Amino acid sequence: MELFPLPAFSDNYIWILHDHQRALVVDPGESDGVLAWLAQHRLQLDTILITHHHADHTGGVAALREATGARVIGPAHEPMPEPLQRVSADEHVDALGLRFEVIEVPGHTAGHIAFYAAQAEGSPLLFCGDTLFSGGCGRLFEGTPAQMLDSLTRLAALPASTRVCCTHEYTLSNLKFAQAACQQQRAQNFPTLPSSIGMEKNINPFLRTAEAAVVRSAQAHEPATTPDAVSVFATLRTWKNNFK
Ligand SMILES: [Zn+2]
Ligand SMILES: [Zn+2]
Repeated sequence: MELFPLPAFSDNYIWILHDHQRALVVDPGESDGVLAWLAQHRLQLDTILITHHHADHTGGVAALREATGARVIGPAHEPMPEPLQRVSADEHVDALGLRFEVIEVPGHTAGHIAFYAAQAEGSPLLFCGDTLFSGGCGRLFEGTPAQMLDSLTRLAALPASTRVCCTHEYTLSNLKFAQAACQQQRAQNFPTLPSSIGMEKNINPFLRTAEAAVVRSAQAHEPATTPDAVSVFATLRTWKNNFK
């Protein structure tokens, strides 16, 4: 099984998983690049997974369905390009011989879901859309800080080796203090993804809201912050919103 992040727009990745015959794509915001890549690699599109309703994640769905006849699977509680199979918590999707559990992760949008394959070859696979990014998390367009923190906590409980397939290349933006190694990777046009849950637990402040240093930092920035995780998280999220 091969995993490939196809760049799209200015900073999106359309993740493609394939077994050299059939392919699965996640959040195709556009179709031309996907169709060209599939043709180049002689792949039949089998399944399209969608995490949430934003256009940069769904814009290519209709054209891909039309061109390939692929089935489309997306969240139960989001506006979606019909027709599709809608899934929610505790359901699963079988594709390419893998079983993907559906995890509900509201916060970025109200009905955002993630797809998790525990038995993926090598190490588990997580497609988490705009929820968890390397070094950060998605903006709160429709959900509350408490919801997003709860969603991130659920993702952080996955095995440390889990490959975290985020949908945007936000890593450098999230890590202004990033190491030269990371900048070098981008200069050579290598994706920084997948990240791993283990690394996120170590470096992502949104997953470290219980740590004293993070609490102190949040309180120094916003004195009204209380030491509980939701308050610390909310301060970090607002701080990051305005961080230039
Ligand atoms: Zn989004
Ligand atoms: Zn997005």
